[in-house]
Amino acid sequence: MRAYGTGFDSRSCGACGRPVSAAEVESSHYTTEGIVRYLRCPCGRRRVELAGGLSRG
Ligand SMILES: [Zn+2]
Repeated sequence: MRAYGTGFDSRSCGACGRPVSAAEVESSHYTTEGIVRYLRCPCGRRRVELAGGLSRG
C-alpha cells in the first residue's frame, strides 16, 4: 500500500498522529492501479490512498 499527499506518513496522520484507521473514507474510486480512497482524519486533514489490487512490484 502506498500513500500519496503531504503531511502523512504511511501509517498515521502527520498532523495529529492518529492511526490511519481513525480516518473516515470520504470516497473511493476504482482505477487501473487499484482503489483510490480519499480519507479524512478526525483532525480535518485529508489523505489519498491507493489500495492496489494489481501489485506488480
Ligand atoms: Zn489527523
